[in-house]
Amino acid sequence: MRLFDLHCDTLYACTTRSLPLEENGLSVSLEQGAGIAAWVQTFAVWIPDDVQDKADLFARQVRLFQSFLRRYPNRLRQYDGTVVPGVCNAMLSVESCSFLTPDLQGVQLMKQLGVKLATLTWNGQNALAGGAHSDGRLTSLGRRAVAAMEEAGITIDVSHLSDESFYDVLDCVKNPVVASHSNARYICDVKRNLTDDQIRTVGQSGGLIGLNFYRDFLSPSPPDVDCILRHCDRILLLAGENAVAIGSDFDGSDVLDAIKNVGAVYKLYQAMVKLYGSVLVNRILFQNAQDFFGNARNKERK
Ligand SMILES: [Zn+2]
Repeated sequence: MRLFDLHCDTLYACTTRSLPLEENGLSVSLEQGAGIAAWVQTFAVWIPDDVQDKADLFARQVRLFQSFLRRYPNRLRQYDGTVVPGVCNAMLSVESCSFLTPDLQGVQLMKQLGVKLATLTWNGQNALAGGAHSDGRLTSLGRRAVAAMEEAGITIDVSHLSDESFYDVLDCVKNPVVASHSNARYICDVKRNLTDDQIRTVGQSGGLIGLNFYRDFLSPSPPDVDCILRHCDRILLLAGENAVAIGSDFDGSDVLDAIKNVGAVYKLYQAMVKLYGSVLVNRILFQNAQDFFGNARNKERK
């Protein structure tokens, strides 16, 4: 099995709980992922809404990420568009750009650090846009941040946006957008999931939607693996086979019992293969995201 996971909060958990990456009791660790033939794991630098010193929390997570790269040189490398088998290819993302100041100098720092993907918000409203638990709009600073990030080669992640800000962002982006960890609202009616129209819109932009394993985003009743397939079916139907990917949300949410850690994703693989066949499953679990982030793309939004 090959896996390209578009979102986990493991870096935040390791930073705030002083944990290593090798073996840590979390859902994502080098041990848990050791059996994956080719593995790209996106590590989000997460800035919760209620944190006072956002710049400090950003810096602490980045420092830990860089120390992990030094500490495990044979088992961990920063993803550069190519995938080395048998190691963790770590892609850096940002979840909430609330640490950005009006001069937007932080965008250049993100570029230098190799950040490939960033959400503007977490669930609340910030100076850039409205999060999913608000009805806030994209602000003029948010608009400038989107332009600066796209200029810096950073893909805009529309997960966590309010519905209003989602469409504001889609109106101003030049490049495809990614919803790194959001499911279908038609299947599970929560604001963090995407409406049918939003799913279509992300697909039409040439972007990706990462299936989220958080139980509350899968079903109001305890979800099983088949529940992920129902969300997958909906997104395939509306956005097409090139748009579906994985965004586990490991270590940032209470994921379903059947897939408690990255090593257990093979259970989803097995369930999916029966339904879709191995070619499409490889695209969903790995190749769609690799095609997106692995190639230099400047596709204009349709
Ligand atoms: Zn999230």
